[in-house]
Amino acid sequence: MFYFYSIVTKPLTSVVLQNEICPVCSKKGTIEVVLYMKFATALIPMFGLGRPTSVHCTECGHEIKSVNTPLFAQNNYSPGIINGIKTIKANHKRTLWQLLYPWSILILLGLLCIFGLLTQYSVSRTNSQTSEMLANPKIGDVYKVNIDSMYLLNANTMGSKRSQTLFKIIDIKSDTLLMVRNKQKTEGIGVKESDWNSLSREDNTFETAPHKISLKGITERKEVFEFFNQKKIDSINKTDRVKSIDPLHFSKSIGQIPNYNGIEIVERK
Ligand SMILES: [Zn+2]
Repeated sequence: MFYFYSIVTKPLTSVVLQNEICPVCSKKGTIEVVLYMKFATALIPMFGLGRPTSVHCTECGHEIKSVNTPLFAQNNYSPGIINGIKTIKANHKRTLWQLLYPWSILILLGLLCIFGLLTQYSVSRTNSQTSEMLANPKIGDVYKVNIDSMYLLNANTMGSKRSQTLFKIIDIKSDTLLMVRNKQKTEGIGVKESDWNSLSREDNTFETAPHKISLKGITERKEVFEFFNQKKIDSINKTDRVKSIDPLHFSKSIGQIPNYNGIEIVERK
């Protein structure tokens, strides 16, 4: 984008030097000093290039000093003109807008950087708080869960659609979390916090029959593993040649803990 850059000079103020005489038309009080703001721009201003001046005669148009004259080439002007340039620069106070405007892009980039860093900081803070709470569950914690519709009791379709619902911890027995599921669900995967707002957190919106959920599955796999009933566990143990000690071997995954940055996965009062 910098390929299309250009230099802009905009007049800020001007003053006529009453005692100067034009070297061309010899008239007095016709020499005007103009002060400009100068900046590089690529559609949006990029950076400031100071305040150059130009000097010319308002009567005959003779140009004594061009706005593009570099600073170091200023030594062959009359003392009156040199003083006029000095005075106009000293007297003109730029507004805040005039000071900041030439630097628009840099200011925008700076603000974007700060915004990005703050977002990143808050996301990593939320993520570490979430991991901490998942590893140390408390009764009453409400978890956001992405669940497959086919595992929902009130599913009215045979298809498997992704849904969002809430699970609440009502008891903890070592690695087993007793959790009740919210009767409500919404379709989708809940990428944004607001996607979860329509689900009620009231006690009476949760079912009463608890699910036995593995804590290990949640902390290590970010998945909701429901333990089988004792009858099924016994039959697995009977048929397995090698006895498993992995608790997840006796369970099935019924949902996932959403893994989107910045979402408050555990709601704790
Ligand atoms: Zn003149």
